[in-house]
Amino acid sequence: MQRTPLIAGNWKMHTTIAEAEELAAAVAVASHGLADREVMIAPPFTALAAVAKVVAGSPVRLAGQNVCWAEKGAFTGEIAPAMLRDAGATMAIVGHSERRHVFGESNAMINKRLAGARAAGLIPILCIGETLEEREAGRTFAILETQLREGLAGIAGDDPAAVVIAYEPVWAIGTGKTATTEQAQAAHAFVRGVLAELYEKNIASQMRILYGGSVNSDNVDALMAQPDVDGALVGGAALKPESFARIIRFL
Ligand code: PEP
Repeated sequence: MQRTPLIAGNWKMHTTIAEAEELAAAVAVASHGLADREVMIAPPFTALAAVAKVVAGSPVRLAGQNVCWAEKGAFTGEIAPAMLRDAGATMAIVGHSERRHVFGESNAMINKRLAGARAAGLIPILCIGETLEEREAGRTFAILETQLREGLAGIAGDDPAAVVIAYEPVWAIGTGKTATTEQAQAAHAFVRGVLAELYEKNIASQMRILYGGSVNSDNVDALMAQPDVDGALVGGAALKPESFARIIRFL
């Protein structure tokens, strides 16, 4: 069973086009020659096409930070899967905690986004994670299971590379507070168990589960050493070229 690690940078609502080009160039240099891992960045939509030119010929993949389910139409403020592809993206983040908690996106809506991305040939990264309140109430696994089952409803499990899961405890995102390696591994093992129920065990064992939540150059190695941690979704540290370069080069 082979799971190629994926280091993904989520730039959120940061960077002008010029700043994005500069940062992407640094990521392309840092990714040069790394055959045993994948690197992805999710710039703001406005910078995608420009960044695609910068990373062309490098192994760096591009993602949208969100994606609509519809192909086109009256969806003001949304981006269609084909538009992301047109701009150079091959992946799309769906269900990020900021989409869930700041913009009120439900599991049902996230499921539609994921299905739309899949149908267009984009690889969705489905983000799931519990709040601090939910963790303290002992509901972490129940929340993760619901987010997985509802987020993946109707999604075929024929290709284990076609969907990526990101476990991102909400209390660890942008807070500087990382889950312990034990907490991360326990959640990832649980997620893989649910995937094995949804799909086949053989498929679940090949699906990638990323950890996200204050990943930085100091904690990445220990997190990546966990057996069920297959990569990282990185926010703040992805905006710092040296930090992200070190995260890409995790040991
Ligand atoms: C994220 O944006 O998904 C994230 C995990 O952010 P940070 O690394 O800043 O916690």
